[in-house]
Amino acid sequence: MFRLTNTLTGATEVFTPADGSTVRMYACGPTVWNYAHIGNFRTYVFEDVLRRHLRSKPWKLVHVMNITDIDDKIIKTSIERGVDIKTYTTPYAQAFFEDSAVLRIDRPDIITYATDYIQEMIQLVARLLETGHAYREGDSIYYRISSFPAYGRLSRLDKRELKVGARIDADEYEKEQPNDFVLWKAPKDEREPRWNAPFGVGRPGWHLECSAMAMKNLGSTFDIHCGGVDNIFPHHENEIAQSEAVTGAPFVRFWVHGEHLLVEGEKMSKSKGNFYTLRDLLARDYNPLVIRYLLLSVQYRKQLNFTLDGLASAERSLARIKEFLFRLKTASLSSGPSAKVSDALSAAQAQFEAGLNDDLNTDQALAAVFELIRELNISLVGGRPRDVDCTVS
Ligand SMILES: [Zn+2]
Repeated sequence: MFRLTNTLTGATEVFTPADGSTVRMYACGPTVWNYAHIGNFRTYVFEDVLRRHLRSKPWKLVHVMNITDIDDKIIKTSIERGVDIKTYTTPYAQAFFEDSAVLRIDRPDIITYATDYIQEMIQLVARLLETGHAYREGDSIYYRISSFPAYGRLSRLDKRELKVGARIDADEYEKEQPNDFVLWKAPKDEREPRWNAPFGVGRPGWHLECSAMAMKNLGSTFDIHCGGVDNIFPHHENEIAQSEAVTGAPFVRFWVHGEHLLVEGEKMSKSKGNFYTLRDLLARDYNPLVIRYLLLSVQYRKQLNFTLDGLASAERSLARIKEFLFRLKTASLSSGPSAKVSDALSAAQAQFEAGLNDDLNTDQALAAVFELIRELNISLVGGRPRDVDCTVS
């Protein structure tokens, strides 16, 4: 049984796909305005572990991830650089996939670019306007959160703070304050990209993008939506409000969120000098596998303190695994199986799987690997393992 913590209920629940056979999963992908940093990659590595664990089960998996190739930051910077958004974002999207491959993150099954789904977004806004969940103010369209009583359920927001009619125009905002949020933004600058819609020329708000891409590929209700904890409010709260107001069906069964990453005990920021993209670390000659190891060595729901000491210790752990495999490959073993070794292998595999089944407890899964190495190293000295035990798969 695979148990997973669901942010929506606050409980760790047994997970199975709704239809019993196919897991439908959506993950918020990068906004390709710059290189992704290691905090971002902690989330993508956790999602990769989740993906691999789901694939080890007798289920099919459809994993969708979006690329946000239009939002405030992208528009602002592309205008400053005098290029269109596609020219600006394409190299960063490519860099993201290169970085992911270097970290051995499997590619999701379906990758969606926000700019390919503008028609679906327009349909959602039209429907929200028809049903009174959205309204026009000036030339932009906003979501009326007072029209959706479940607003705030995911993030457990105190709705007494709700300011009726207060609106937010930006794609991202920090304050944990519920405001009506923008669905469709009228251009403020003649150089901004724009699309024609029945309700006026403009472009989609960020939150709307994920609702449109997720439902188009996975249906009105799907199994898992994941992302980082910083996406819970307002992004995921707003996704629920938009989607459920249109379909009347629950949007997502399991909301799964990865915790923050700190660097040297502090929130990563450029001004503190503790901000690393993956490329910064590779330029300092860190092995990408060591970085992956450190990122997944702490269970996804715990804060991870990423430190250079931690990288050194991850390097030693990986070296232990490699040295062990080398010893195993080069040992001269007598033929046949050995009951003691096969028992140790079964026990380690059971503990490894039990760890991952327990809310992706990677700490426990890795402990099983090192316990096995310790036992087998002792056995190797005693000459116990036989060749049948040592087929490394
Ligand atoms: Zn999203």
